Amino acid sequence: MKSYHPYIACFLGLFFLAGTLPPSSFFQEEKREIVRITEEIPGPEADSLQEHIMRMHEKAICTLERLLKSYQSRIWMAADSSVEARMAAWNAHPDIPKWMGKLKQAADSVIMIEFSERLLSMHERLVNKEISYEVKSTWLSYCQFTSTNAFVRKGSDSRTIFLCPEWFDKKERQQVATILHELVHTFGFSHPLNTDTPLEAVALAKAHPALAIQSPENYESLAELYVCQEKRKL
Ligand SMILES: [Zn+2]
Repeated sequence: MKSYHPYIACFLGLFFLAGTLPPSSFFQEEKREIVRITEEIPGPEADSLQEHIMRMHEKAICTLERLLKSYQSRIWMAADSSVEARMAAWNAHPDIPKWMGKLKQAADSVIMIEFSERLLSMHERLVNKEISYEVKSTWLSYCQFTSTNAFVRKGSDSRTIFLCPEWFDKKERQQVATILHELVHTFGFSHPLNTDTPLEAVALAKAHPALAIQSPENYESLAELYVCQEKRKL
C-alpha cells in the first residue's frame, strides 16, 4: 500500500493545481481575434463575414504550403546541392521563372534564398496570427477612391490588412491571392517600378528578378496558381 502514496500525493497536487488554474480567458492569446468588423458594415452578418475571412486566411496558409512544397521538391531537394544545379532546377520550374524571373549567373543564387525565406516568413506570419484583418465602413471612401479591393497602410510595422467591399465580390481564388499580395506589403515592400498588373509582373520578372521577389503583384499572380481548393466531402 505504501507504494501508492506518492501517486495519491501526485493526484492531490494535480487537483490543487487545477483549482488554482486561471480561467480560460488566460489562454485567449492562443486564439486571439484577428478579424475586426464594425457594426455598420453592410451585407451579410458580421459573424459570417468573420468566418469567411478566417476560411480565406486558412486557405492562404495552405496555398503557401503548396508553393513551398513545390519549391522544395522541385528545386531545393531535386538538384544536387551545387548552386548551378539548383539554379537550373529553378529555371526549369513550371511557374517560378515566369513570375520571379530566370537566374543567369552565380550571384543570382541569393534570389533563390531570399525568395524561399520570404515564403517561410509569410507562412509564419499567417500561422502565428501576426497579422489582422479589418473591415470597416469608414474605409469605404478610400476603397472607392483608389478602386482597390484591399490595402495595407504604409509603414513597415503595419500588419493590418484592410478588406474593401470589392474584395468580397472576387472569386475565392483571387481573394486568397490578394491576402498574399497584402501580406508582402506587411514586410514593408511597395510596388517596384509601379508593377501593378500581371502583365507588368511578367515584365518585371524578365528584366529584374531581384525586384520581382519583392513585388506583391508577382507573389499574387504566382500564388493564384497554387490556391488550395475546398476538400471534397465524401
Ligand atoms: Zn499592393
